[in-house]
Amino acid sequence: MMDCIFCKIANKEIPAKFVYEDEMVMAFHDISPEAPVHILVIPKKHIASLLEVTNEDSQLMVNIMTNVIPRIAKDQGIDEKGFRLVANTKEDGGQTVDHLHFHILGGRSMNWPPG
Ligand code: C5P
Repeated sequence: MMDCIFCKIANKEIPAKFVYEDEMVMAFHDISPEAPVHILVIPKKHIASLLEVTNEDSQLMVNIMTNVIPRIAKDQGIDEKGFRLVANTKEDGGQTVDHLHFHILGGRSMNWPPG
């Protein structure tokens, strides 16, 4: 996807403060943090949103959930007190970048419900 900003970050055409990379996934600090720790986890492959994930992506999704996110939480020191994981999806979900991403938000107490 030529015009996708997260594809450009994944290809290192646009700089980001990376905290994790493997063959399928990258993670970097959100440019506009909403919490003391605010990391975005993205697949390198372009997937527009959670609704476009298919069975072919099962290894990718298991890797993100069971390996990448817990590891980042530990590395960022938010594993003991916890964090919030968010996947804004499409218009009503507040998604502004159409490339699947998970927000890891931590380092402060979160409110519920979200706005
Ligand atoms: O869930 P949503 O699509 O709104 O999240 C997109 C996120 O990507 C925002 O939190 C925004 O700050 C972040 N972003 C970024 N680096 C960019 C462009 C957007 O971290 N170059």
